[in-house]
Amino acid sequence: MCKGKITETITAKGLTTLDDVRAHTKASASCGSCTGLVEQLMTLTLGDRYNPAAVASMCGCTDLGHDDVRRLIKAKELKTIPAVMQELEWKTSCGCAKCRPALNYYLVCDWPDEYADDYQSRFINERVHANIQKDGTYSVVPRMWGGQTSAKELRAIADVVDRFEIPTVKVTGGQRIDMLGIRKEDLPAVWAELGKAGFVSGHAYAKGLRTVKTCVGSDWCRFGTQDSTGLGVRIEKFMWGSWTPAKVKMAVSGCPRNCAEATCKDVGVICVESGYEIHFAGAAGLDIKGTEVLGLVATEEEVLEHIVALVQMYREQGRYLERIYKWAKRIGYDEVRRQILEDADRRKAYYGRFVHSQKFAQVDPWSERVSGADKHEFRPMATISLEAAQ
Ligand code: SF4
Repeated sequence: MCKGKITETITAKGLTTLDDVRAHTKASASCGSCTGLVEQLMTLTLGDRYNPAAVASMCGCTDLGHDDVRRLIKAKELKTIPAVMQELEWKTSCGCAKCRPALNYYLVCDWPDEYADDYQSRFINERVHANIQKDGTYSVVPRMWGGQTSAKELRAIADVVDRFEIPTVKVTGGQRIDMLGIRKEDLPAVWAELGKAGFVSGHAYAKGLRTVKTCVGSDWCRFGTQDSTGLGVRIEKFMWGSWTPAKVKMAVSGCPRNCAEATCKDVGVICVESGYEIHFAGAAGLDIKGTEVLGLVATEEEVLEHIVALVQMYREQGRYLERIYKWAKRIGYDEVRRQILEDADRRKAYYGRFVHSQKFAQVDPWSERVSGADKHEFRPMATISLEAAQ
């Protein structure tokens, strides 16, 4: 839609919020890359009547914003989606595609040992643990810890590709192997074969920890100052399975030459002679942004404690679908440094809560489905229709 049409619609319909403009014009409603432009148009058209700082509601089902909903879930100890909707006076009986995934995440995060994940409230990719493609088939990305693999793993992947006639195999930017063009009903069998070789889900579809990209570091590289590969593997094994407000990508580079591109990741580590420089809040997608420096630490243990605490702070404060760079900008980079770098007690408390939540999160969803979980999801519609007709 052109600028003139958008301003005309804002005036004609009396729109005063970004969500209203999105709903009526579709501008800024898909990838969001033109949001700044749309906000400028709103300021030009509405003048003082447009207040971008006003708290936007989560969706049309409630007048409450994300932060208020999160605060009230904790304060009122609300532990199911129906309880949240009833207690916070939702305007709809079942919520919508915006609020249900957000509520499901907030409850998973706040009550890891009590809340039963409502998989029906997840988007399609998270529901079936694979990435849907434009032709309706799926892609599958097994986890490759720190981007390392082996002959055994590669043989297993090659066998799966042959057996299921997978048309495309692609190396991803996160140092893993993507198999594309798999039929939905074949997913459990593909995962079963991959599981025999020791693979677990790479969560390439998840609002959760994706990859920890690494360079070869001091094991092989003449410039390496520390074991960047080993540290990346350690971080990934510690943090995989965690759900976060939006995807989280990490990287560890063995020296400031930064071959793993750690300075455009959500969390990055640059190894130096004196230790490890921790970075956060980078972006290299719709937005391009270099990271902020959190600080320098001396040991791998300290790296782990700091980045786990940072991610837990983001898990507890981030709004659903808000990437780390947006969350950190909103609350302030110095506030992140104050809570994570300078306040050791608070850092350890964040760390402890993450470790506790991992007890319930580190379950491979692929092996669960191989064992029969949600099996109706993977049965062809034709079979279900036939059974229903009998
Ligand atoms: S980042 Fe440094 S240590 Fe790592 S591969 Fe590049 S030059 Fe080597």
